[in-house]
Amino acid sequence: MSENHYKIAVIGGGPAGYLAAIRAGQLGMSTVLIEKMKPLGGTCLNVGCIPSKALLTSSEHYYVAKNRLAKHGVIIKDDAISLDLGALMKRKTDVVTQLTKGIDFLIKKNKVTRLEGFGKLLGGNAVEVATTDGETKTVTADAIILATGSEVIELPFLPYNGKTVISSDHAIALDKVPGSLLVIGGGAIGLELGSVWSRLGAKVTVIEFLPRIAALNDADVSRELDKHLRKQGIDIHVNTKVESADITDQGVTLRTTQDGKAVDFFGDAVLVAVGRKPFTKNLGLDTAGVELTQRGRIKVDGHYKTSAPGIYAIGDVIDGPMLAHKAEEEGVALVEQLAGQAGHVNYDIIPNVIYTHPEAAGVGLTEDQLKEKGIAYKVGKFNFAANGRALANDMSEGFAKILADAKTDKVLGVHILSSQASELLGEAVSVMEFGGAAEDIARTMHSHPTMTEVLKEAAWAVSGKALHGA
Ligand code: FAD
Ligand code: NAD
Repeated sequence: MSENHYKIAVIGGGPAGYLAAIRAGQLGMSTVLIEKMKPLGGTCLNVGCIPSKALLTSSEHYYVAKNRLAKHGVIIKDDAISLDLGALMKRKTDVVTQLTKGIDFLIKKNKVTRLEGFGKLLGGNAVEVATTDGETKTVTADAIILATGSEVIELPFLPYNGKTVISSDHAIALDKVPGSLLVIGGGAIGLELGSVWSRLGAKVTVIEFLPRIAALNDADVSRELDKHLRKQGIDIHVNTKVESADITDQGVTLRTTQDGKAVDFFGDAVLVAVGRKPFTKNLGLDTAGVELTQRGRIKVDGHYKTSAPGIYAIGDVIDGPMLAHKAEEEGVALVEQLAGQAGHVNYDIIPNVIYTHPEAAGVGLTEDQLKEKGIAYKVGKFNFAANGRALANDMSEGFAKILADAKTDKVLGVHILSSQASELLGEAVSVMEFGGAAEDIARTMHSHPTMTEVLKEAAWAVSGKALHGA
């Protein structure tokens, strides 16, 4: 076997790819990880999940200091509160660097060979890598894993210029707070990065094509989140289709149709957040015989096998929600399967969080989905306003809602709108993974005082008897 032959070759060092490589290393398989960028971690660590959350935390501190500290008796005198955007951005970059360095360490520790360069399929079991130092190398592997992720979608009449027309890649690194920011798309990116710039002082307007923002969340959560974001000063327009745009050096005018009427919006800049598409450019898919689905994702079977023998695909580049944890699970499951183990991903239980304030978190089916499927269900709901810890923490917005099977009481969906909903959802995910019932949550002892008690109360409410219910 030549020096450049591996058991596993992974193309793409994002959550799907780097975890697949680490797991392969842990299972003792010779592995090469090919990534075109210097830092590992892909979209999630470098320009996605992590930098956006660092900015959300910093902007929240600034917003809270400006708007909410006085009632805690913290007075900032003479309105002398100001923003150092450079320091805020530096902290974000430091967080990202600390994490990407951590992956470098884990890759080495697990004896995975790292190749910095662009990988292209040559057909059969070979990958050509155009390395960043100008060389071309060929590696072969028993199994090639495509984990090349996704990239931003561009609207044809709004080409990105990084100044007035920006994508999330730009919106995590602006050097100035725009006076006004239009956001096209009321999904996770639009609402998270819209929140960041609104908190930092921009006048933000979200324009959403569908009848509601956060359209994938349970309708109650999305309705309540809409109210909170409006209260924070974000202007939201639903049922609004952006048709065309005028771009000048001063800003952008969007021409839209709103409930059949023409309405124009002007902003100093526009953030286009209308989704992401799989990244398969120059990957050599045709040469290798790897087929795509109608929507341009790499077609795989239930074991992540593509149409080409020995080539597999995982993460954003295949079907399913474009989420880091879904990508990670697929990386681990595939490599375990290749090692002869029983790797598995439960696609019915994929948690989903929008990290606004309050956070919108959900897992399992929404109420609308239960109705569509004709499943008889019971609902238990409890407000954080009636929870001691939430009140003490000044985090009393929102509610938790549990949907359970009408006959068996099995939990079918949990939806939370609250501060730290992302953390609270973990309990619901575990219960659902074990096929638990609402009564299991209700009869489990929860520490007092904690916000988790809201989940317990919502679980009691499923059978009509919340302990602290009005
Ligand atoms: P990616 O992370 O996109 O990684 C693919 C890697 O492959 C990249 O590093 C790329 O450089 C490399 N690559 C591509 N082609 C080649 C090639 N031919 N040769 C070599 N290397 C190649 N998800 C969440 O779950 N939670 C969040 O809070 C969250 N926040 C987000 C915020 C933003 C602003 C964005 C944009 C995304 C967010 N996501 C979030 C989505 C998340 O980032 C993706 O689901 C996740 O990164 C997908 O992982 P992946 O490994 O499939 O792809
Ligand atoms: P998205 O699909 O979540 O939301 C895009 C929104 O834009 C949709 O509501 C859609 O109806 C709307 N839209 C599309 N075209 C439009 C138009 N022409 N005019 C007005 N509205 C329009 O996509 P996103 O927010 O760009 O995020 C991309 C991916 O990244 C998603 O898969 C998301 O799950 C993932 N992501 C996840 C998180 C998280 O988990 N917290 C954070 C950021 C991104």
